[in-house]
Amino acid sequence: MTVVTVARTREELCEARAALDDGDVAVVMTMGALHDGHATLIHRARQTHAHVVVTIFLNPLQFGPKEDLSRYPRTFDADLAICTEAGVDLVFAPTPDVIYPDGDPGVRISAGPLGDVLEGQARPGHFDGMLTVVGKLMHLTRCTSAYFGQKDAQQLVLIRRMVRDLDFPVRVVAVPTVREADGLAMSSRNTYLTQSDREIALTLSAALAAGAAAATEGPSAIRRAARAVLVREPLVLADYLVLVHPETLDDVPEWFRGEALLAVAARVGTTRLIDNVPVLVGPGGGALEIFSADRLDG
Ligand code: AMP
Repeated sequence: MTVVTVARTREELCEARAALDDGDVAVVMTMGALHDGHATLIHRARQTHAHVVVTIFLNPLQFGPKEDLSRYPRTFDADLAICTEAGVDLVFAPTPDVIYPDGDPGVRISAGPLGDVLEGQARPGHFDGMLTVVGKLMHLTRCTSAYFGQKDAQQLVLIRRMVRDLDFPVRVVAVPTVREADGLAMSSRNTYLTQSDREIALTLSAALAAGAAAATEGPSAIRRAARAVLVREPLVLADYLVLVHPETLDDVPEWFRGEALLAVAARVGTTRLIDNVPVLVGPGGGALEIFSADRLDG
C-alpha cells in the first residue's frame, strides 16, 4: 500500500491540495495520537466525500501554561499508518512555526461568552486558541466540509457558531462519540491513565448512563441520578456535571422537555477527562447517539 502523502509546509500543502477536486474536500482536524475515534471521523468523511484531508497539529495556542502540551502523546508513524489504512488523501502535519510564522498571533478568533463556561472556565483562553487554529486550517486546507466528534461537545458548539457568525463556507458534520467496550470514551489522554485510574474513569460514562436512564423524569432527576454515581467514587474529582441546552449551554430549567446535553469533567489521577451524552428529556426520553439536528448532516 502506498503511504499517504504528507505535507509539512504551506507550499507542500498548496501543491498537494491542488491535485484534489476543489468542490469536495472534507477535513478531519486532530492533534495526533490517533485512535478509533479519529478513524471513525475519517471513515464517515470518506463515505460522502471524494477527498479527505487529515491535519495533525498539536496547537500550542489552546494549551494553558500548566497543561499537558509537553507530555501529550506523539505517535506520528502510527498516525500515518491509520491514515493510510483509512484511505486518507493527504495529511497536513505542520510545526507551530508553519502555522504561526510570526509567533503567537496578535489577532485571534474570540469564542465570546460560550467560551467562558464549562471547559472554558477550567481552561481560560482554550477556545480562542482552538477556534483560531480551526479557522486557519479551514482556510489553508480549503475544505468544503469538516468533521468533528461529539466527544468534544463544547468545541463542536463553538465551531458551529464560528462558521455561522463569521460566514465560513464550510459544512460542519458531527460524529457520535466512540467508546471502548466498557463505555470509556476514547481519548488520546487515556494513555495517561494507570490501570486503576482507568477503572475509576469508568465512573464518568456510568454517571452519564445513569442520568440518561432517568431522562423521562425530567432535569432534576437526571442530574440527581448522574451525581449519585459520580459521588460514589471519591477518587473522581468532579469539576462539573451539568445538564444544559445544546446550543446556549445554559442549565435547562425543570420544566424543560426536548434535547439537552449531559456533560461531565473530572480529574482522575493526574488526568483531566471530559465526557457527555446527548439526552432526550421527557416522554420516551433517554440517551441519543447525536442531536437530531446533527443527524441531518450525516
Ligand atoms: P483531538 O485529536 O483529541 O483534538 O480530536 C480530534 C477530533 O477527533 C475532534 O473532532 C474530536 O472531537 C474527535 N474525537 C476525539 N475522540 C473522539 C471519540 N472518542 N469519538 C468521536 N470523536 C472523537
